[in-house]
Formats: sequence, structure tokens, C-alpha cells
Amino acid sequence: MKKLEFQNGDKLPILGLGTWKSEPGEVRKAIVWAIEAGYRHLDCAKIYQNEKEVGEGIAIAIESGLVTRKDLFVTSKLWNNAHKAEQVRPALESTLKDLGLDYLDLYLVHWPLAFKSDVTFAKEPEDFHTYSEVPLGETWRAMQEVKSEGLAKHIGVSNFNQNKLNELKEVGGQQPEMNQVEMHPFLPQSGLVDYCKSHQILMTAYSPLGSPDSRSDKHENDPKLLSNPIVKEIATKHGATEGQVLIAWSITRDIAVIPKSTNKGRIKENFEASQLELDAEDLQKLRDIGISHRFVDGSFFTGDNSPYTLSDLWDDH
Ligand code: NDP
Repeated sequence: MKKLEFQNGDKLPILGLGTWKSEPGEVRKAIVWAIEAGYRHLDCAKIYQNEKEVGEGIAIAIESGLVTRKDLFVTSKLWNNAHKAEQVRPALESTLKDLGLDYLDLYLVHWPLAFKSDVTFAKEPEDFHTYSEVPLGETWRAMQEVKSEGLAKHIGVSNFNQNKLNELKEVGGQQPEMNQVEMHPFLPQSGLVDYCKSHQILMTAYSPLGSPDSRSDKHENDPKLLSNPIVKEIATKHGATEGQVLIAWSITRDIAVIPKSTNKGRIKENFEASQLELDAEDLQKLRDIGISHRFVDGSFFTGDNSPYTLSDLWDDH
């Protein structure tokens, strides 16, 4: 399994398991199956509301001797309602308690926007904090603190565009070591990838399969990634599945990738994508796929009821 390297030499297995929408009653088993299949990188978040059960899966795997804690690379994310300086450490401690761990390998600021502390999903203007109330720099300084205390070995961000990453440069000190964003052949994020490479920020691709289980009615006309004819053609050529082609695409670009599955067969199938090598012709076909689409469009956090706009999230707005 290919690994990405942080500046201090720590390694991140390039392929991990996503856990958003992994249902209670399913995710514990999924974690154990994944570790049995060879996964060592798990992607979690407070807002997925399943970290306790993820932690139970990790505990089963450790107690049964499959792995030790230090074999695993566990990521979690600070939710938008805990961006004030004094909230960051307690939020991380709560995640650690749920996961049954005493440190995280990577802690990310989930989104570059803040909610009031008693709000889980902001809907009304009064549910949000503005940047003048809770500047991103305040949150980032607190993230630097939890790293220096050893509660998170590495810190980073998610859904940050180049402007927002530049803002963190002005804070000084430890810069983000990771930016986790949506990425797949419909959204290759080439500009952001170049920016992150030139600033020694590693990247993780989320929703690599197009997040088919997150579709609401609003998204029923979205283009389909897994059944795209170019993806299918490349899968047939290699005797692989469409999912494996999409996962291998990120691995080839040296970008970590975290497909979600709670299905034992697909968990294994996705892991085996690390053996699939795409050639120059495949990569050119995927570059020329001719569809540009963002599945997690951020519109749930922006609009008339929010102080934030899509330009706070994406470079192309
Ligand atoms: P994915 O693109 O990983 O798609 C997951 C869906 O694909 C599920 O319905 C799953 O079903 C199905 N699936 C999995 N493997 C295959 C396969 N080989 N063939 C066909 N279908 C398959 O979506 P996510 O949006 O969940 O993204 C992955 C992870 O990224 C998340 O779980 C989360 O950890 C992270 N993420 C982070 C975000 C952020 O803001 N930082 C935002 C969104 C995601 P089944 O389970 O039945 O196999």
C-alpha cells in the first residue's frame, strides 16, 4: 500500500475507509471488516454521529490482536459549532472519548464556517457566527495548541479554498498538513492540488465514488459517476470494477482517498483498488471526461439565511 509522508516523516496509508452515513448497527462491523481486509486508515467526524460505534469497532480489532493502536491512522474533524478557541480542545476530547483513543493521528477543521455552540445544523441567520465573531485564525490557533499538547499528531483542514488557506498563513505557526476536499474525475481540483503541493499540504479526496447514498431529491438529476461510460470502459479494460477505477485514479495522483462502504464485499473490493494501475491513456480519458460536477455543493451552509457565500468555500465562485 502506497503511503503519503508528512514533513516529520510520519506516514499516512493512501487508502482509508470513509464513515459518513455509515449507519448505527452497521459501522462497528464495517470497521472490523475493513481492518481485517487490510485498511489502516479510518476517516471519522463528530458530525457523522457514529464515532462511539466506530470506536467499538477499533476496540474489537485491537482486542482480538488484528492490529495495535499505532498500526492505525485515525482522522476526525472539528464540527462547525465548536470553532471558538475555548471549544476546540473539549470537542477533540469528546471525540477521543467516543472513539476510545487517547490521541488522533489527524484532526481537521471540517468546514471554514462557524455555528453557534447549541446548533448542530444551522438554518436561520441567528444560528451562525460571522467571521468577525469567530475568525478562522482563532480556530486555527486552538488547533495548533491541541497539536502541541499531543492530542492530535497532525492538524489540517477540510473544504478550504486557496483564499482560506492563505488566511491561515497570516496566522503563522504550524500550517495545515492536510486539506480534505471532494475530488474525482468530475472534479479534479487541479488548481487546488497545485497550490497544496507547492505549500507541502497533503490532500485527501472525499466522495470519490460520487457519494451515491447522499443524494436527496434535489440531486436526482446529478450526473452519475460510477456508471459513467468512460469509467466503465476503463474498468472493463482492466477487469476491474468502476469503483476500483475511481479509487485508483486518486492513488495514481498521490492523493489519499476514503471511499465509504458498510458492505463486506465492497470494503474488500475497494481495498484491492490499491493493486490497480491506471496507464497514461486511462488518465487522459478521465481528464477528457467532459463533465464537471460537485456533489457536496455546500449550498446547505450558504444562501439568504447565512452570512457565508459559496465563494467562502470554493475557488470557482
Ligand atoms: P463515496 O463516494 O465514498 O460513496 C459511498 C457510496 O458508494 C455508498 O452508497 C456505498 O454503498 C457505495 N459504494 C462503496 N463502494 C462501492 C463500490 N465499489 N461500487 C459501488 N458502490 C460503492 O461517498 P462519501 O460521500 O461517503 O465519501 C467518502 C467519505 O469521505 C465519507 O464517508 C467521509 O468519511 C468523507 N467525506 C468528508 C466530507 C468532508 O466535508 N470532509 C464530505 C463528504 C465525505 P455501501 O456502503 O452500501 O457499499
